[in-house]
Amino acid sequence: MPPQLREQLGRLVEECVKLCPMFGFYEMREFAGLDVNKMPRLTKYISPNGNSNSMCHMGMLGVCKFDDSSCRYVRVDPRDLTDDFVQEYIRVVKPALEKCLEALRQGKKARRPSPAGRGGRGGFGGAGRYGPAQF
Ligand SMILES: [Zn+2]
Repeated sequence: MPPQLREQLGRLVEECVKLCPMFGFYEMREFAGLDVNKMPRLTKYISPNGNSNSMCHMGMLGVCKFDDSSCRYVRVDPRDLTDDFVQEYIRVVKPALEKCLEALRQGKKARRPSPAGRGGRGGFGGAGRYGPAQF
């Protein structure tokens, strides 16, 4: 997690991971309605087709399940984070993490696609990756 985010978000993420070791975007989406397409963007991390947010948001939170070579999204270099982006990111993500923590404390579990449907490069992505598992 970039140091700019750690002070505000580090503890919340830690608590979520304690309750849900697989904690990640499925929880954020289901418990907090977080939409990757509405996440703050940095110009440098918008993919060449111009309409997709290519940064690894789970890497931003330190919970990406993949390493640098297997994650299909781009790891953000903390030096690329602008103050405005950091403020906006915290504004969007902090309440989402709080909702997740609340849900996890109530014992809720997010639906996940079957692991059998996933192959090759993983990561957390935009629209279209969350339908029923593809075989
Ligand atoms: Zn990732």
